[in-house]
Amino acid sequence: MPQVYFDYASTTPIDLKVLGEMRPYLKKEFGNPSSVHSCGQRVAKALQEARKTIAEFLNCQPAEVFFTGSATEADNLAVLGLIRAFESKKKPHIIISAIEHHAILEPCRFLEKEGVELSILPVDKNGIILLSELKKLIKSNTLLVSVIYANNEIGTIQPIAQISKIIKEKEQELKTKIYFHTDAVQAANYLDCSVKNLAVDMLTLSAHKIYGPKGVGSLYIKKGTPIQPLIFGGGQEQGLRSGTENIAGIVGMAAAIKEAGSPKAKIYTVKVRQLRDKLIREIPRIIPAVELNGSLEKRLPNNVNFSFAGIEGEALLIALDQKGFAVSTGSACSSHNLESSHVLLALGIPEERTHSSLRITLGKDTAAKEIEKFLKVLPKVVERLREISGYKIK
Ligand code: PLP
Repeated sequence: MPQVYFDYASTTPIDLKVLGEMRPYLKKEFGNPSSVHSCGQRVAKALQEARKTIAEFLNCQPAEVFFTGSATEADNLAVLGLIRAFESKKKPHIIISAIEHHAILEPCRFLEKEGVELSILPVDKNGIILLSELKKLIKSNTLLVSVIYANNEIGTIQPIAQISKIIKEKEQELKTKIYFHTDAVQAANYLDCSVKNLAVDMLTLSAHKIYGPKGVGSLYIKKGTPIQPLIFGGGQEQGLRSGTENIAGIVGMAAAIKEAGSPKAKIYTVKVRQLRDKLIREIPRIIPAVELNGSLEKRLPNNVNFSFAGIEGEALLIALDQKGFAVSTGSACSSHNLESSHVLLALGIPEERTHSSLRITLGKDTAAKEIEKFLKVLPKVVERLREISGYKIK
């Protein structure tokens, strides 16, 4: 049975155009960009071009784009690299939203154990951060604020430019410098990522969420932002990320970014949004006792996340897999972890409901007939699982 893929927030299939651009760098143009001979220099030029493409997408200078081995690494570099570069007797203070990806949350928890002060910025019941709380949390030793642009589980979009404005006002009031990072991994396909418009100091991207290859990420670092490397060696990426560059991957990331910023992408966004809206409209109509998690309006156009009362999300995922649908209960990283999602808990969702959530994320290849098929299968699967669990609709 062909699998219907509804897990684009976890990863995306590589675009054929992207693959075509990568191919020469896997075999024919295999040189090391650090080599002086022409074989290496041709590859160095491709690296330079890729950096320029990412810089154009982000509206920054090419020298402000740093390639990494993943978005996880880029997030870690932003947090750990900034803290390591901090030179003061004062204990640094970090503020992160309550719905950050683990790639931000875990390095921050690690730093907290080492004595760094960490504050968690709460969100409202729709998953949008509370700007009034941010104003209260910023202090004279606040060094970093990190807020995810669009959440990977519930797709909620944060007001990054407004957050930046608050930070700037606080900087003036407290006469201090506060750096602002955003993880734009899920946003890059659908939202404006101009670092000038967002007014951020650092921004993370990942290639495999935008129809590019796995194992490539990038971090925008505004000129003048103090960062210490996490990996030492040959001094690549201006000394911030040693290791021979993954050229084919980087070329692929640039090709994927070009596609994401193209007019074609706007067309498929309209289609994806229509299909997503159909799911959001129809699921509660045909299945009783379901609740949408996260804001309806401030939401990525490809994200659906519902809780189905009386059912374990894991059981629903497995049953749907057997019927030929690939869905998720939340983030890919935590899908082997049966703890409640920290994202859903942050919205004030009761623990029981957090265990019954299902994430359906669409992409440019999603077809209307796949949605139709899913809407026929889902009610039957839910009904059967509710019978097994003995759940009675109130
Ligand atoms: N940040 C967000 C918001 C994500 O969704 C992911 C992937 O799940 C990551 C970071 C990590 O990306 P990567 O797989 O490139 O390490």
